[in-house]
Amino acid sequence: MKKANLEKDAGEFLLGAMVAKLQDEKRTVLERIAADVRECKKCPLCSHREEGVPGEGFWDSKLFFIGEAPGVEEDKQGRPFVGRSGTLLSDLIRSIGLSRGQVFITNVVKCHPPGNRLPEIDEVNLCLPYLMEQISVVKPKIVVLLGNVALFSVLNRTHMTELHGSLLTEKGQPYFITCHPSAALRSETWKRRIREDFKKLSLFLQEMETKIS
Ligand code: SF4
Repeated sequence: MKKANLEKDAGEFLLGAMVAKLQDEKRTVLERIAADVRECKKCPLCSHREEGVPGEGFWDSKLFFIGEAPGVEEDKQGRPFVGRSGTLLSDLIRSIGLSRGQVFITNVVKCHPPGNRLPEIDEVNLCLPYLMEQISVVKPKIVVLLGNVALFSVLNRTHMTELHGSLLTEKGQPYFITCHPSAALRSETWKRRIREDFKKLSLFLQEMETKIS
């Protein structure tokens, strides 16, 4: 075998080993965060939950979706977006050529608020470090903020009606803004808007990938 071929094989082997190491490290941290969430007693929501819902998905996702809080079904199963909103979210993800297994999905707070009420500001502040660490591990190309709670908690912004469909960059991280799937289930207007927003999201992602390649 020629020397150039041997060097190429060695280079590919080393690259493969580095990717496998990175994958192991990211998986380990994500599993540790998930275990911490399931044991967490930092805020009063722990006393109402059946299961903590840390989130789930691919360790190297391009897209990282953030909703508000687990609902009743999510609380029972310990998984995010598994009710009617989840069915719509899965459908929207498929509409841009991806599957749930290729993205990361979670919520601002990881435990179900009683009566499906909004999470309180103290609960959000106590829970946010889990979310921020998940983002820093996955390092997605785009974080997708689903709804007002995600928009306010992560970017301290309001006015979903004006901001939906736009991409904002904060501290080097791009954020795409759209409504929560549950809002789209309640309103034909928002159902139309969220579908249009996902088309824009796909274009933003393609643009970024074209620039990189
Ligand atoms: S909502 Fe977050 S901070 Fe509160 S108990 Fe659950 S994991 Fe802990």
